[in-house]
Amino acid sequence: MDHFLYRDGALFAEDVPISEIAAAVGTPFYVYSTATLLRHFKLFDDALEGTDHLVCYAMKAASNQAILKTLAQAGAGMDVVSGGEYLRAKAAGVPGDKIVFSGVGKTAEEIRTALTGGIRQFNVESEPEMQVISAVAQELGVIAPITVRVNPDVDAKTHAKIATGKSENKFGIPISRASEVYALAASLPGLEVIGIDVHIGSQLTELDPFELAYNKVAELTERLRAEGHTIRRLDLGGGLGIPYTRSNDAPPLPVEYGAMIKKTLGHLGCEIEIEPGRLIAGNAGLMVSKVIYVKSGEGRDFLILDGAMNDLIRPAMYEAHHDIVAVEEPAAGVEQQPYDIVGPVCESGDTFAKQRNMPPLKSGDLIAFRSAGAYGAVMSSEYNTRPLIPEVLVHGDQFAVIRERPSFDEIINRDTIPEWL
Ligand SMILES: *Cc1c(COP(=O)(O)O)cnc(C)c1O
Repeated sequence: MDHFLYRDGALFAEDVPISEIAAAVGTPFYVYSTATLLRHFKLFDDALEGTDHLVCYAMKAASNQAILKTLAQAGAGMDVVSGGEYLRAKAAGVPGDKIVFSGVGKTAEEIRTALTGGIRQFNVESEPEMQVISAVAQELGVIAPITVRVNPDVDAKTHAKIATGKSENKFGIPISRASEVYALAASLPGLEVIGIDVHIGSQLTELDPFELAYNKVAELTERLRAEGHTIRRLDLGGGLGIPYTRSNDAPPLPVEYGAMIKKTLGHLGCEIEIEPGRLIAGNAGLMVSKVIYVKSGEGRDFLILDGAMNDLIRPAMYEAHHDIVAVEEPAAGVEQQPYDIVGPVCESGDTFAKQRNMPPLKSGDLIAFRSAGAYGAVMSSEYNTRPLIPEVLVHGDQFAVIRERPSFDEIINRDTIPEWL
């Protein structure tokens, strides 16, 4: 569920007409709903009620400071995957003891930043990384809390680019080597082993792969405890999928996911951490764009938008589907017609949808990409010298620009000319 609905023939974000935002900030832009963000966070928080838990928002999904602050004020922790994200979380007011640091390539510098500012735990992905955390912790005279990310070798049944839990993926250490790696962790100074971490992929639409992985984590918990390790926290990663279409085969709900977690891991008495990103932000955001031209091709019509692959790369990168709707509600019974919906970038990959049925549209009409809140703005670029598009946050009947569109001068002046020119 989200808060982008038609009212009196026009699409709204909560209580604000999309067309009003478009008039104020220009197109294209991203718009997020505070109510949807908070609702999704609460669904996860409620799903784990009765167990000691923390929902750490995976901020790589959408990391604007205003979004982070909204979630942090609701009590969310954060899952970060870079030193930059760590600093973003801190700047949004998240205390260090609610920030977990994931990722396969944490540098000594990033580790130092996190240990200096305070960290809930590092999710360690390799032995060399463990050695570096140990060394930096000793240098700073602190103890680094760690879990080890294990790779359970399960098929997440998702797009290959976002599957992370098979043995051929670069993530985590094989479960079969866990005893060895935990023994190393126990022997290194500056580290405190507190638990186990697992994250098998993104946009999972079934519970089975999670359950398979979590059962392996349960077994591993007992084994590592028998070997003398303290396992008191289980970080279960993110990955629960969202409905990108209004079809019947919707992914499982957070409440079902939570019940499965309690069933598979509840008996272990561990604190549970989860790291949802997409499900919190995905359906809390739209990308709004304007039709520049309607171009008739051979046997097909193209809708050429002012938004492009540099603004929303998911269709080009993952063959992702986004529902696309007209901002002005089509009259009841209006005949739809197929369009190829494309951006102006000079690549054929700059295609959002082929032969998509839409109401008849004309130059100047506004359209909205639904489910664009996660892995949208954060993956955008200025390819073709197209300025990063603004982000807007709605809260009831208020809206605010939370990231401005840069001017062309700002973009050009970011480059510097060597003195020999
Ligand atoms: C990307 C990622 C997440 C979030 O995944 P979603 O599919 O957005 O929920 C959580 N944890 C880790 C380690 C990740 O890399």
